Amino acid sequence: MLKELIMVSTNTKYRTTKQRKVILEELRKVDTHPTADEIYGMARKSIPRISIGTIYRNLEHLASQGLILKLAIEGGPNRFDGRAQNHYHIRCICCGKVKDVTLESHQEIERIAKNRSDYDIVGHTLEFWGICPKCKESTCS
Ligand SMILES: [Zn+2]
Ligand SMILES: [Zn+2]
Repeated sequence: MLKELIMVSTNTKYRTTKQRKVILEELRKVDTHPTADEIYGMARKSIPRISIGTIYRNLEHLASQGLILKLAIEGGPNRFDGRAQNHYHIRCICCGKVKDVTLESHQEIERIAKNRSDYDIVGHTLEFWGICPKCKESTCS
């Protein structure tokens, strides 16, 4: 009985680990900052029976561990980023596409904020808005 219980919990643990690994790998393959729905579509190629609930749960867990970033997008679903180190994003106001922007000022901006607020700064978010090259060519509704 005890042996059986151990086996069950080991299998569950193994499955969770495998699912989490697949989700992380899929997310790290792309730089499109996909939504949970899009990640669901990607992960199903490796694990056809995975559920959307499992996707959400694992994304939350990975984000809480600092392995991925969860991007709260105004007026749309959250997007996820396999690149966990601090970096900036630019969002297209027409199509909603999110792209990385390389900037070197992370520490500098936090130092300025600390000086002006007298807070100990533990992090910050900054999002740029613009019109992507594709949308510049077509009419933006
Ligand atoms: Zn666009
Ligand atoms: Zn990013």
